[in-house]
Order: sequence, then C-alpha cells, then structure tokens
Amino acid sequence: MAATEQLEAVHWDLADLVDGGGPESVDSLIDRALEQSRSFAERHRGALETMDGAALEAAMREVAEIYDLVGRADSYASLDFSTDTADPARGALVARVQERLTELSTTLLFFELEWAALDDARVEGLLAHEGLDFCRHHLRTARRYRSHLLSEPEERVMTEKSVSGAGAWTRLFAELAGAIEVSVDEETLTLDVALARLMAPSREVRRDTAAAVTAALQPGLRTRAFVFNTLLVDKSTDDRLRSYPHWLAARNLANEASDESVAALIAAVKGRYELARRWYRLKAKLLGIERLADYDRMAPLETDEVEFDWAQAREMVLDAYGAFSPDLAGVAQRFFEQPWIDAPPSKGKRGGAFCAYTVPSVHPYVLLNFTNRRNDVLTLAHELGHGVHAALAADQGVFHQSTPLTLAETASVFGEALTFARLLDASPTPAARLSLLAEDIEGSIATVFRQVAMNQFEQLVHTERREQGELSIERFGELWFQTQTELLGDSVDVTDNYRCWWSYVPHFINTPGYVYAYAYGQLLAMSVYERYLQEGAGFEQRYLELLSAGGSMSPEDLGEIVGVDLRDPAFWDRGLDLLERRQEAAEAAAAEL
Ligand SMILES: [Zn+2]
Repeated sequence: MAATEQLEAVHWDLADLVDGGGPESVDSLIDRALEQSRSFAERHRGALETMDGAALEAAMREVAEIYDLVGRADSYASLDFSTDTADPARGALVARVQERLTELSTTLLFFELEWAALDDARVEGLLAHEGLDFCRHHLRTARRYRSHLLSEPEERVMTEKSVSGAGAWTRLFAELAGAIEVSVDEETLTLDVALARLMAPSREVRRDTAAAVTAALQPGLRTRAFVFNTLLVDKSTDDRLRSYPHWLAARNLANEASDESVAALIAAVKGRYELARRWYRLKAKLLGIERLADYDRMAPLETDEVEFDWAQAREMVLDAYGAFSPDLAGVAQRFFEQPWIDAPPSKGKRGGAFCAYTVPSVHPYVLLNFTNRRNDVLTLAHELGHGVHAALAADQGVFHQSTPLTLAETASVFGEALTFARLLDASPTPAARLSLLAEDIEGSIATVFRQVAMNQFEQLVHTERREQGELSIERFGELWFQTQTELLGDSVDVTDNYRCWWSYVPHFINTPGYVYAYAYGQLLAMSVYERYLQEGAGFEQRYLELLSAGGSMSPEDLGEIVGVDLRDPAFWDRGLDLLERRQEAAEAAAAEL
C-alpha cells in the first residue's frame, strides 16, 4: 500500500464502547444508568450513617457500574463528534448526553455529600475494610475539602452570590479582553491573531505588531486592572473564610499537589533561570541580531525537516518504546493492531491530538491529525504514552485509573523523550539536529520557565493585595516587569512597552494559581525520565509498576514507587539537567553549522 493510503486507512472503531452498536445504543446505556442510579438513591439515601465496610463496598461497586455505563455513553458521543464536528446529529447527541448526565449527577449527589459529612473516625473505620482497595484513595481524596467547607446555609449563600460576584467579574474581563482590537498596517486584528504574528519571520513585522498590541492594551487598562483587583480581594476573602493558609493552598489541594512539592518545583526552576537565558543568547546569534527584544522570542528559526510517513512514524515510536521496555512496546503495539487510533486529518475533524481513557472495561482511543511532519512523530509518541498509561492502569478500575492532574503527563512526556532521543540520533546534519532541539527547548521554556515566572507574578500580586491593599496599574506593570526580567536577565531586551502585557492573560482571572501546573507535569515527567537514564535497566519494572498504579495513591506515594521524592528540589533539578544537556547539544550543533 502507498504511504498515503496506509494513513488514510487508520480510523478508529467506536463500537467497542457500545457493545457493537452505534449512536442509538448511547441512549439505552444512559437509560440503564439512570434507572440504576434512581434505585441506588432509593436504597441508600441516609444509609451511610449505619453502613458497615462490606455494605459500603457493595454500594461503591454499584456506583462503579453506573460510571461504566455513563463513561461508555459519554465517550462514544464525544469521540464520534470529534471526528466530524460539522455533523448536526453528532452535536445533538453530545448535548443530549450532557443534559442527561446532569440529571444523573444530581441523583447521586446525596451520596457524596453524606460521605463528606461523616466524621473522620467513622470514615477511617469504614476504609479499613479490605474489599475497598478499588476505591479507598478516591473516597479519601473526595473528602479533602472537608475542613475548608462552611455550614450548609453559608455555602448556599456563597454559591448563589458568586454568580453576581466573582462569576460576573470574570465574565466582564473575558468580554473586555475579547473585544480588544489591534490595528496594524491599516488592518484590524483580534488579539489572538496579532499575537500569532509575533512568529513572523520579519523582525519589522514583529516589532510593529508588538507596538500595536501595546497600544491596543491601553484602552480599558484601568477597568481590567480594577476587575483583577476585585477578583484578588474576592479570593482573599474566600481563602480567609475557608481557612486556607496562603493564596496558593486551595489550588494545590485541587491539584493534589503538596505545598512542599510545589515550593520545591518553583525553587528548582528559579535556580536554573540561566538555562532560558542561554537559549535566548544562542537564538539571537542564529537570527543574526545582537540581542533579542521581547517581541523576538517567538521568531521562527530555519527548519531542516525530514518527513516521516505513517509506517515510519509507527516503527520509530515502537522501536523507541521497545528499546526501553519490550513490555511497554507490546502495550503500545496493540493500538496499531486494533482500530483504536484515528490518524489522518479530515474536514470537520477536531484539531490537535488527544488520548481518551474512556472506561477501564473497554480501552483507550487516540485521535491525531497526522501530516508526516517530524513533530507528528513526537505527538504520536506522546499520545501513545497516555494510551499505555490508561491501558496499564485499567485494572485499577473506574475510581483509580486516572492519575491526579499533576501526574497526568508522566507517561506521555516520557514516551516523547524516548522518541526524541531516537529522532536526534537519526538527524543526519547539524542543521537538522539544531532545528529539532530548538523546537524542544522552546517548548520547555514555554511550559516550564514561562509558567513559573507567571506564577511568581501571581504570587506577588496576591500577596501584595492581601498585605497592602489595591494595586495601581503602575504597580501591576512593575511586578510583571520585575518577574519577567528576573527570568530573562540581560538575554532579552524587555522594553517598557511590555509592562501592560499581563492585562490580557485569561488564566490569572479564570483560574488563579493554575499556571504552575503546566511546569509541574512536564518537569516531573522529565525528572522521572532522567532518573531512568541514570539508573538504566533496573528502572523498567518500577516504571511499569508506577503506570499500573494509575491514581490509586497520592502523587508523593506514586513517586516513591520509582524512588523519587517530589518534596526535594534535587528531584526537580534532574529534569532541568536534561534540559541543560539539550541546550549544550544545541550549542554544539550551532557551532558546526
Ligand atoms: Zn498530554
């Protein structure tokens, strides 16, 4: 078969999710789930007070069954939609499933609330029951907000008032930011389109675009700063009422990341800011300019790309996985033998790539938009990493298959790193090596360094609002400038124009504290990979054990399986060592050009 025909034939078959049926089976799965959940509610409302461990086990097995039905229906609808988003019938099915699932969660909500209301001693007594292995960690973490909850009438007031409080301010910000128009060369662009022009090859275009963005951020800046100030104080009130000890505590709890591990991550990355600067100095040389300006950071470098067809990509990834662990490659291999991957791009198909875990009783699916680029090989390796993680953890069952957010990228980034090493070895020229390394380093700067610098900005504004009151526009600008130049040092000329660029970032407004999670997930995986490079052969079994554990324990305990301590800055430094070697390799390749 010709290479293009081969790729065109790679489509998934979703029938496994609906016992061989089609879209019509989705509603009957939900019918069954709703029926079971109503019966569950009738029998178990108020029963947690008196249940013993064995009865709790039986109840949780019922919940698992309901989740399995729902997970199949929901996965089928959303996966089917993702390959043809223009089809109204598929869109309607997704909407119907969402509505019906809301009814189901409302029916089961009582059980969560009653579980959260039990006192600690009773809970620990129940959890001692051996048969609860399949859901013990889930049940324990479900109670993690308990000491931060208010009384029921207080919670009701908080929820109802939040619609016209933080919710309204957040929406106002989104509307204001969404209306920002950038005028460049008599053209009017949306902010997103203008920001994408910072990747233009012409320096003049980049400089003019950046100046136009700065100008576009001026109108309404005072209002956006007021909205941010209001949300800062709103969050500080929430945190005080809910007894969170610091501005990041609630986010860490949501991420299942301990305060200690987050502090260790941030300390380690800040200690290695020089790595990002080294890259920007090299990039200036490659672009033939003396020093990068802030608007040059996204400038494209010359690329020297080799193409890979589907068969070559598959072989490269399986080889890379297999050299590390034949067992792991065996799991990955099944994705190609079975119709679990949807690979070619097509009209109406969702962009990008993802892996859907679906439910443990079926198997994961992978969506790609494969176009023969070198980067598509890495994307395949990444999504297959998620796939093997899901497949290995399937035995953990519906409550423990998925990891907490902080560990969700472990297997994907690990698989990508294995394949990256292969690609690098296979790159024939210094130019090919350099362009591969450049993409990788820039990706790491965006995910690791830039997010930590943004976290430092958030840290300062949240703390200052709490200690000193409202921040002026100038003060926001100063703290933004300070945290950006702390990262970039003298490697990039950060102009005064850049001072207002904090004022469109949606994360600061929508999900305070979130940005570090990107750095956490990526660097954790790279540090685990580095651990493997140091340890060699003995590592494989423990790594497979880690993946098979899914989300059955806390991130710290999962780390222990492969012998790492997330609370130790030295652990995070390992991933940064890996980055440093890639930087050195890029410098060596550049010297050979
Ligand atoms: Zn991923």
